Amino acid sequence: MGIIIEQTECTGCGSCARICPGNLIRLDENRHALLRRPSDCWSCLACMKACRRQAISYTLSPQMGGRGARLSVNYTPGQTGWVIRKGQWQRVLITDTKEANRY
Ligand code: SF4
Ligand code: SF4
Repeated sequence: MGIIIEQTECTGCGSCARICPGNLIRLDENRHALLRRPSDCWSCLACMKACRRQAISYTLSPQMGGRGARLSVNYTPGQTGWVIRKGQWQRVLITDTKEANRY
């Protein structure tokens, strides 16, 4: 399990690098996000949530999504779409962004 950055989808906006609490992401010479010291990443998913390009995904465990399943985030105004992909298969779980922290 861990964070994967698809550099071909990255626009170099830098949001992920700014939000990472461990300062683990930098932009390389081509302004593509790069995870340095992956072993130091504690999978808080802040970078994944900050990326509006779905360029960052999280590899789910086989118990959670089946082998090879990945999670990313697709934002639309007021909603967070949690996108689970495995090959061609895809499901999206929608949560209300404003209500998400009210328990
Ligand atoms: S937030 Fe996404 S698009 Fe922006 S630099 Fe990071 S990976 Fe690239
Ligand atoms: S998952 Fe959290 S700790 Fe890991 S690179 Fe992203 S923001 Fe940083």
